[in-house]
Amino acid sequence: MMKADKKNKILVVDDMAINLELIKNVFALGENFSLVTVSDGKSAIRKAKTNYFDLILLDIMMPEMDGYEVCKILKSYPTTKNIPIIFLTALNSPKDIKKAFQYGAVDYISKPFSVEELTARVNLHISLKRTTEELIEAKRNAEAAAEAKAIFLANMSHELRTPMNGIIGMVDILKRTELTEAQHEYLNIIESSGENLLTIINDILDLSKIEAGHMELESITFSLRDELRRVMNIMQIIANQKKLPIILNIDNDVPAYVKGDPVRLKQIIINLVNNAIKFTEKGNITVSVENQDTKDGKVRLLFKINDTGIGISPEGQKKLFQSFSQVDKSTTRKYGGTGLGLMISRNLTQMMGGDIGVESVEGVGSTFWFYVFLELSDEESYKKQHQEGEGADIDKTPVHVKLKILLAEDNKINQKVAVLNLNNLGHQVDIANNGKEAVEKFENSGYDLIFMDVQMPGMDGIEACKKIRELEKKSGGVKKIPIIAMTANTSKDEKKKYKEAGMDDYVSKPFKQKELITLFKKYTV
Ligand code: ADP
Repeated sequence: MMKADKKNKILVVDDMAINLELIKNVFALGENFSLVTVSDGKSAIRKAKTNYFDLILLDIMMPEMDGYEVCKILKSYPTTKNIPIIFLTALNSPKDIKKAFQYGAVDYISKPFSVEELTARVNLHISLKRTTEELIEAKRNAEAAAEAKAIFLANMSHELRTPMNGIIGMVDILKRTELTEAQHEYLNIIESSGENLLTIINDILDLSKIEAGHMELESITFSLRDELRRVMNIMQIIANQKKLPIILNIDNDVPAYVKGDPVRLKQIIINLVNNAIKFTEKGNITVSVENQDTKDGKVRLLFKINDTGIGISPEGQKKLFQSFSQVDKSTTRKYGGTGLGLMISRNLTQMMGGDIGVESVEGVGSTFWFYVFLELSDEESYKKQHQEGEGADIDKTPVHVKLKILLAEDNKINQKVAVLNLNNLGHQVDIANNGKEAVEKFENSGYDLIFMDVQMPGMDGIEACKKIRELEKKSGGVKKIPIIAMTANTSKDEKKKYKEAGMDDYVSKPFKQKELITLFKKYTV
């Protein structure tokens, strides 16, 4: 029930006319109140259901229906359950008082009452109700704003990734043509700028996922040493520009195989090592891993990333691990960065049951540490997983078979990137501009493989894939055509959706030629 005017509306329920008169007189003094009086329980319920009230003053002892019963009924209706009820009664034994509160009253006033007490309690409960309503409203608005922000960020990141597919894809193609040395260098700059931009876009996407509570972790078996060595090899290439050696120390009792999310674990390490390189001019960077505890099938691993860089002041350290926070503004100007890396890392470590922190001395260096819990696993599970194709390392040499490929993609630039890449690999490509066209083309000619964009106008990739699988079933054929989703969204939920629709795999945009080669090896040889 909406409030109609600014006055505080009170419903007074009492079977004695003299009591009603008395209360009316009390509140008639102030202009803030508007009173409605009734003399029995049934009328009280009817009135409360059809009018707005800020508060109800309710007598307990009444013929037919007593105050407790009225209170119980009012508390069970959605529109009346939040109206505060104060009992007004001569029954004032501790048992009666307890009963009143059990039925949902907010307060209790004994008759005969004092005018001051009555007005003070009524004012108090009305103001409490107002404050509660305002808080609920504010919470609702804040939640709606957070949700809108998360959706906006997710959409924006998607929109930003689509043109990046054009830029990175075209650079990849252009680099394979005949170029002068200078042109090659310019392209390298475009490529690394594009990749930096993509990292920022991915960070924003991660942040929006974290804030909306949509971040999910994978659970797969991996070799910790292999993954760490791979990461350090890549990081060393960056550190070489500053002649900084990266030293990796893994304690002997760190298990060989663990189960968890290797991509997200590496993301934390890459963030921290990247920062270490960024803020260090000379000396070295050490990455160490130690086994802190092994219990109940889980291992607690402590990672330390130590640098001999500029260090962070005690005040600066307090600001770390929050979104968009950098130690000071000059850092942004001098070193760049969005200030999202540490915040994302903190959330990821916490999702893995751990935490992150720093010890640092200005001018001497910093040690960022984090610990996480990972499940213990073994070589057998690792091998089994590889046989199933998860994360399998496929030889990346080109496939020398000319394939007939159907490409379903609505974006003209992305069509061009994919066609050039596929032609470059010696394959023939037909284009479908949407899902419907893809289904028609599939029906009318034979293809070796389909690349299917997920978001397309009209019939989307998911629906088109389902249709194709249906047609295959109807025709009784045993051979299913490999369908690969091309997408910017590779969340666990989305991947599940692709699989359920009958897709075999996915390639995330922007993709590079070598990723396509990997897919051909997997699905066509
Ligand atoms: P950014 O993208 O800005 O690097 P981060 O969240 O990764 O975002 O880091 C936030 C800030 O913390 C940096 O801008 C820098 O001021 C400080 N910082 C992080 N790592 C180091 C480090 N190893 N040495 C000195 N300062 C650091």
